[in-house]
Amino acid sequence: MNYEQSFEHHTQRVLMKIRTSALILASAIATLPAMAQTSPYCRSDLIYDNSLDFFDIARFLNFFATGDLRADFDGSGSLDFFDIASFLTGFTGGCPDLTDTDNDFVPDFAETNNGIFINIHSTGTDPLNNDTDGDWLTDGEELFGTSDGLVLPNADPLRKDIYVECDWFAGNFQGRNENYRPNAAVYNRVLFAFDNASTQNPYGHPDGINIHLDYGQGNGHTGGNQLPGSPDVVLFDSEFNQYKAVNFDPRRKGYYHYAIFANRYNSSTNGSSGFAELNGDDFMVTMVNYNSTRNMANTIAHELGHNLGFHHGGHNATNYKPNYNSVMNYAHQFPGIDINGDTTGDGPLDYSHGLNNPINELAINEPAGVIGLPVDFNHNGIIDPLPYALNINCSGSFTGICGFLPPGACVDAFCNVLQDHDDWDNIRWNRLDLSSDRQAEIQLIDCDNWPGKQFE
Ligand SMILES: [Zn+2]
Repeated sequence: MNYEQSFEHHTQRVLMKIRTSALILASAIATLPAMAQTSPYCRSDLIYDNSLDFFDIARFLNFFATGDLRADFDGSGSLDFFDIASFLTGFTGGCPDLTDTDNDFVPDFAETNNGIFINIHSTGTDPLNNDTDGDWLTDGEELFGTSDGLVLPNADPLRKDIYVECDWFAGNFQGRNENYRPNAAVYNRVLFAFDNASTQNPYGHPDGINIHLDYGQGNGHTGGNQLPGSPDVVLFDSEFNQYKAVNFDPRRKGYYHYAIFANRYNSSTNGSSGFAELNGDDFMVTMVNYNSTRNMANTIAHELGHNLGFHHGGHNATNYKPNYNSVMNYAHQFPGIDINGDTTGDGPLDYSHGLNNPINELAINEPAGVIGLPVDFNHNGIIDPLPYALNINCSGSFTGICGFLPPGACVDAFCNVLQDHDDWDNIRWNRLDLSSDRQAEIQLIDCDNWPGKQFE
């Protein structure tokens, strides 16, 4: 055996030892909750836990031993000692300080805490807050995806994000051809409302929320899809959960709201526009035969609003409050919000910003109206100069005598103080339901507002 043969023999023996060791170590890392990808800050941090340790070495050796080219650190196309040297460089000063105080997978050095995102090495986020913008998606999840490889397309760690997967039916429903797929016009209407929200973001960033509706339009939004068949009715929970089980990537649980766009729910004569889980993650939009851009977009916002914690009166279930100017209010779900102070809808989609004064139904002040412009609350054709008592949280132009409930018109019999609610600043930001089914504490809200009503 000459020198070269001896060296080759020695090399093979060392490699064999490494492979043997690696196969033993491989079992040690099999159960580790590893990120799906290598750290973007340090290639040698193969476990992506922002520390360089035994587990990274074990994983490297595992790749090396099994011929996995993820160990090809020098990019030569084969595995050799140069890859080992290159891997070890990370441990000897070749990687930045990976200290990650808030454990959000973005190292402290990159979290520049100035609100300016330049790149992943200068993110503008807070090194002491793992969710800088407060939307319950961590900074690392927004930048790099979740630990099991779910990417959140176009997420902004400095501005609040909400994700909704939209699955829809199309075909013949009770003799009518309908396509209940949300389209770009619907999305743009919802997008505009959320982009102009008064919800605040850190570092003095512009107010507002990035709403992401995934209706299968591409550009990372690949989860929305058409559902099979054209059922006249979809039952909740049973059928809804069956469709969700097949069509919703389980990795999206806890990150995306899930919505089904169908004809009707629960009954073949149900004219309701949808329902939603209060404080949950599921909702339905059922346009029956009144599908339009405005009706659908407004109903998405209405049902999503229930998921975000709003009732039909904002903080309470009191519907038809003339001073609650929100798509959550049945009076504004389809016609849109009031912009000229006459309490009737004028088109735009919005949640309430909470700017209206309370109205005391025991002493209604018509000259004061709701925004300082007079309102003829009792529909008698004049602005009454003196206060009077009247039950006014009723549908259409109905009113009621205090203490008496006219059938089907007013939502309560009593005269009390009606309060506005600042929806945008009271969104219930929370990690979405991680259980497989609806949790017991999540209440269902049946929205029996008929989309054809505005044409009556
Ligand atoms: Zn509702």
